[in-house]
Amino acid sequence: MSLSIARTINELRLCLSDWRRNGLTMALIPTMGALHDGHLSLVHHGLKSADRVCVTLFVNPIQFDNPDDLKRYPRNEAHDIALLEKAGVDLLFAPDMSQMYSQDEATRILIGGPALELEGVFRPDHFTGVATIVAKLLIQTQPDIAIFGEKDYQQLRVIIRMVTDLCMPVRIDSVPTIREPDGLAMSSRNIHLTPKERLQAPVLNHVLQMVAHQFREGKAPNILSDRATAKLIDTGFRSVDYIEIRDAISLARVGSFKEKRNYRVLGAAFLGKTRLIDNIPV
Ligand code: AMP
Repeated sequence: MSLSIARTINELRLCLSDWRRNGLTMALIPTMGALHDGHLSLVHHGLKSADRVCVTLFVNPIQFDNPDDLKRYPRNEAHDIALLEKAGVDLLFAPDMSQMYSQDEATRILIGGPALELEGVFRPDHFTGVATIVAKLLIQTQPDIAIFGEKDYQQLRVIIRMVTDLCMPVRIDSVPTIREPDGLAMSSRNIHLTPKERLQAPVLNHVLQMVAHQFREGKAPNILSDRATAKLIDTGFRSVDYIEIRDAISLARVGSFKEKRNYRVLGAAFLGKTRLIDNIPV
């Protein structure tokens, strides 16, 4: 079956109601396009988990805190369509702004808990924007499963919080981060890195691994954060927003390592103009 493309909510509903009438299950994969192997790993998970896969492509302006970042965000719809077609995706929903937000829009989804710290401090409206668009997409498509990447680990926890709190009838699945051979997490924004920055970029992942390792050996979280920050600055990173060890579910701050708890190390840092984020389990 070839890829169908819906540009409007009406076209989307037509396709989805057809699937529903035939009793088919559907997996939803929200993206902002400029697709790479990380996105495709979500697609492969969807193809294994449901009868039909719908990918959405929408660069959501309200989740960008910086107009420059929005302007610079890479867009390549023709390439995305070719990748999705080849992967065997059934439907692409690629709406324009008017389909997703009306002029007199006055509704937002505001999330506390896991949304408040880390990215929440450095990008204050980001998760409100993410939660609002994801809620709209979930309501419009009513999927059986929605799939998100661990690459944006805090986002994943925020979505799970929202779906749980609002009793949304959808299962949230997550897929591990896909990386370049040198450890750099794949990201649409990586194309902004200069050749020199591209060589420095994997250090973010190396530093997170060092933090995870030394935390397991009993070192204190704040000492490890400071060491990791210093190492990134030494390597040529311009600034470090945070390197933190958090509870893997609540994202609350943690004390010393305990065998039975699950932790996550999360980091965000600027390499030149590009902000990189990454995270790993402990
Ligand atoms: P984006 O297009 O960046 O909004 O990402 C769309 C989805 O793909 C999100 O759920 C991301 O977490 C996921 N994703 C992005 N990069 C990766 C990656 N390198 N590995 C796994 N999932 C990813």
